[in-house]
Amino acid sequence: MSEGVYNPYVNAQAQFDHVADIIGLDQPTRDLLRQPLREYHFLIPVQMDNGTTQVFRGFRIQHNDARGPAKGGIRFHPHETADTVRALSMWMTWKCAVVDIPLGGGKGGIICDPRNMSEKEQERLCRGWVRQIVRNVGPNADVPAPDVMSNGKHMLWMLDEYETIMGGRYPGFITGKPVAMGGSLGRTQATGYGLIYTVREALRYLGISIKGTTASIQGFGNVAQYAAQLFCQLGGTVVAVSCWDNVDKKGYTFRKKEGINVEELRSVADVYGGINKDKARNIGYEVLDAMAWMEEDVDILIPAALENQITPDNVTKISPQVKMLVEGANGPTTPGADEVLKQRGVYLVPDFLANAGGVTCSYFEQVQSNANYYWDKKEVLDKLDAKMTSAFHAVNDLAIQKGLYMRDAAYVISVNRVAEAVKMRGWV
Ligand code: GLU
Repeated sequence: MSEGVYNPYVNAQAQFDHVADIIGLDQPTRDLLRQPLREYHFLIPVQMDNGTTQVFRGFRIQHNDARGPAKGGIRFHPHETADTVRALSMWMTWKCAVVDIPLGGGKGGIICDPRNMSEKEQERLCRGWVRQIVRNVGPNADVPAPDVMSNGKHMLWMLDEYETIMGGRYPGFITGKPVAMGGSLGRTQATGYGLIYTVREALRYLGISIKGTTASIQGFGNVAQYAAQLFCQLGGTVVAVSCWDNVDKKGYTFRKKEGINVEELRSVADVYGGINKDKARNIGYEVLDAMAWMEEDVDILIPAALENQITPDNVTKISPQVKMLVEGANGPTTPGADEVLKQRGVYLVPDFLANAGGVTCSYFEQVQSNANYYWDKKEVLDKLDAKMTSAFHAVNDLAIQKGLYMRDAAYVISVNRVAEAVKMRGWV
């Protein structure tokens, strides 16, 4: 996540510029869409348990809200940067547009490491974030959600702070809430499940049965865990997952050739998906290098951790057996690596399509919260499946018709929708 060689914002703009050329987008619309509409950068002083005060840096960046209120998660990460949040806010705009939900794109972040903070410190940080940005967010303006290292508990503290300041109940202010407190059934599973719905459809298109296919996954957080779970349920085998070790400050890959068991690994992992090496070894896992997940002889690779993982320097390590790359993380593949994958003919399900299940379910949560009427889990997951399946086929059909790379086809659909919205509003 450095702002050095692989800057996600530079990548996000390069991807956008490429598609703006393909569709011949006019200059004012390009100028408007290749950068965020609004940015908020602020400081959050937090009283720590030992009596000292620590000052954290927070962000909320609204890339575009022409199609509806800005929408997107809040990341907690020690290496968060403004450029990363800018890129992620852009990707949120394209993500909401590709699944055709009436929301724009935003992203938030706090430079912090919740793994090294107590519960109370985390609560004060969440409340502090809301106090700084309260004027610029809200159910009709910008609706946050969880992201890397943030979860339902954090969302509820944020909601409580917002409601305390506003003096009322506004459950539609934030999504990813605990189910007992206005959250939606299925939201926890939504991103991982949504990703596997696209895998199922892609395999169907390629004429490959999901039973007997193998996958290797980077990450063991929320997205990776539920993706692995549903993939296995549908008959696939996950041979490896990787995760960050917060003690050693490096990543490891955990491999079991006959197939990992999600429940078993969860029982030796912390809430952030950090797997305990010794305990994993004891239950039969090989512990390998951080990037070993990428070199496995599998059919499907699923990067589901952070951005900038597959780069021109390591893309050649991908096994010739790999047929499909499905991006669970936002921005895991750099434009240089994309070129190599294109030439090799690896079938891509691009990030803002593959991982759109989370925000799609957030949209369902927002609808339920605003209506104060809640659906059962089957209804939520059926609606999610329908949205993901139709978005996948729209992108795949366009890619076939126009001979486009899947990432470009997804961008063409999204950018056209957002461009139309800004034009209809008379902004350009
Ligand atoms: N953080 C998730 C994403 O990147 C979900 C955002 C949301 O639910 O608003 O898509």
